[in-house]
Amino acid sequence: MARRKKIYEGKAKILYEGPEPGTIVQYFKDDATAFNAEKKDVIDGKGVLNNRLSEFFMNGLNQIGVPTHFIRRLNMREQLVRNCEIVPLEIIVRNYAAGTMSKRLGIAEGTQLPRPIVEYCYKDDALGDPLVTEEHIAAFGWASQQDMEDILSLALRVNDFMSGVMMAVGIRLIDFKIEIGRVFDGDYQRLIVADEISPDSCRLWDIETGQKLDKDVFRRDLGNLTDAYSEVARRLGVLPQSNVTKPTLIN
Ligand code: C5P
Repeated sequence: MARRKKIYEGKAKILYEGPEPGTIVQYFKDDATAFNAEKKDVIDGKGVLNNRLSEFFMNGLNQIGVPTHFIRRLNMREQLVRNCEIVPLEIIVRNYAAGTMSKRLGIAEGTQLPRPIVEYCYKDDALGDPLVTEEHIAAFGWASQQDMEDILSLALRVNDFMSGVMMAVGIRLIDFKIEIGRVFDGDYQRLIVADEISPDSCRLWDIETGQKLDKDVFRRDLGNLTDAYSEVARRLGVLPQSNVTKPTLIN
């Protein structure tokens, strides 16, 4: 069998040329990195969980009319996605203060924000993905004014969807990061949600206990990362149901 062409290898994923034009195979690795790859480890099973979870979230978004790159899952670690040109921004939406926002502004982690706050970081590993303003984005031509309006609307729709889905299973969506891609349909450009949505790119806290069920478990050495991600997957019904207690039928 011919070797497929590797297009790009990132910290947590590898992209291969897809079987049809305009498609890409996205492979989820078990590698975990934090603090711009200063902290690294291989976490058995993380890639499998993120492949499933990203499929679940992207499918849900597609179903409510938020366009994403996701086409279908291929196997345990791979999914077929639309090839797109990634806008060089990390779009962060925050509902509660945490992480760098808490550090930067001195707001206690877990403080509810008056409204969702959207931040933009310039995607550049060597610079540590610095926070930028819309002025930088416009001046350096990373995205147009129209793009920025569309990106804001997509980010807020993803936030509403993700917050609702997580709340239904007793989890608070503290914040998350998405990436946006451009696809070209004839003469028209459209923006779609790309990359992945998983506990690697969200902060997820149990509503009752405050337990962290996301990558902070790895960043802050809080326990077993796959246990945390499995718990998210189990609550969402994404994992095979074998270990889920069946409800007792009364009549
Ligand atoms: O670190 P910070 O508090 O800015 O992160 C905000 C959110 O964005 C978190 O959910 C984090 O997991 C996510 N993020 C990410 N990739 C980055 C930076 C942040 O997924 N490079």
